[in-house]
Amino acid sequence: NRKFLLANRPDGRPDRDTFELVEEDVPEPGPGEALVRTLYLSVDPYMRGRMDAGESYAEAWAVGEPLQAGVVGEVVDERGTGFEAGDVVTGNLEWADYATARGAELQPVDPENGPVSTALGVLGMPGRTAYFGTREVADVAAGDTFVVTGAAGAVGSVAGQIAKLSGARVVGFAGSEEKVAFLEDDLGFDAAINYKETDDYGAALDEAAPEGVDAYFDNVGGEITDAVFTRLNVDASVAVCGQISLYNAQELPTGPRKLPALIESRATVEGFLVGDFAPRFEQATRDLAAWVGAGEIEYRETVTEGLENAPDAFLGLFEGENIGKQLVKVGER
Ligand code: NDP
Repeated sequence: NRKFLLANRPDGRPDRDTFELVEEDVPEPGPGEALVRTLYLSVDPYMRGRMDAGESYAEAWAVGEPLQAGVVGEVVDERGTGFEAGDVVTGNLEWADYATARGAELQPVDPENGPVSTALGVLGMPGRTAYFGTREVADVAAGDTFVVTGAAGAVGSVAGQIAKLSGARVVGFAGSEEKVAFLEDDLGFDAAINYKETDDYGAALDEAAPEGVDAYFDNVGGEITDAVFTRLNVDASVAVCGQISLYNAQELPTGPRKLPALIESRATVEGFLVGDFAPRFEQATRDLAAWVGAGEIEYRETVTEGLENAPDAFLGLFEGENIGKQLVKVGER
């Protein structure tokens, strides 16, 4: 059984040396536990916070300890969990070929809902983040102009489509021409801006959102957010979902910035964690599955093959290598 440990705490940007791959025997499940064989492993931006010793909303990993991730896997053995061998489950497990978990830490995955990998993307944590963040935090309504950063990623691509279903004009920021084409041609965004080819984010926004911004879903932060803040309409809502442009920063730039603009717009700026909405996850998953089934929400996955390549898949999130949800395929079903 191969598994990844945190080799050391990164100074700024992590690299391959942040990870150590070790081999051990396949673990035995204890009473009340299942042994799960990993099919897909999710790499997520918030894991960067867990690599630091300091406070983050998720508990810090200890150096030398196994890394954890959202996993979809198959139960191969179990001791009184209520699951059976062959069941597909999801949970927060180790970055490993096999891992054990208590029954209560696992949720069933219904293969009837679509490919099982979607339990880590559009029908999983990122999809639910988009669902609650767009509807309840950014508070999008018909006729609004909705702006989302990280628009071609797992959360952003779903958020933009939900805003579209709500009747908003949707503008996305993303980091390549391929992503711009994906947003405009495949997902039906009204406009997309390649921020890597844009010197003046404000001017690009004035063109893409001439009526100003009513709802802003921020995955990125930094200078793009500065530009959006000065274009918020009266009573606009800002959902602070992520700040990936700052996750590797060793020192934060002074800020928050552009706050004087909020006086005039009287905007509401609200951070949120998807876990805040846990009592309503089932409803969100049902709605998302129905939209995907009806073709109203499209999703894309970028799949890296092989557990050994999981660090590269994680590091690629900070380079924008993924379109849609970044997954690692570890085993065949
Ligand atoms: P994504 O699939 O969006 O992957 C990350 C993307 O971020 C990359 O593809 C890249 O796209 C973009 N990016 C990376 N570095 C920068 C940068 N310096 N400036 C601008 N864009 C950058 O990840 P997720 O959808 O999983 O997560 C999106 C955000 O949502 C993250 O900030 C994450 O932390 C947050 N999140 C928050 C949750 C919550 O409960 N609040 C839950 C889940 C996620 P590009 O090519 O466009 O640069």
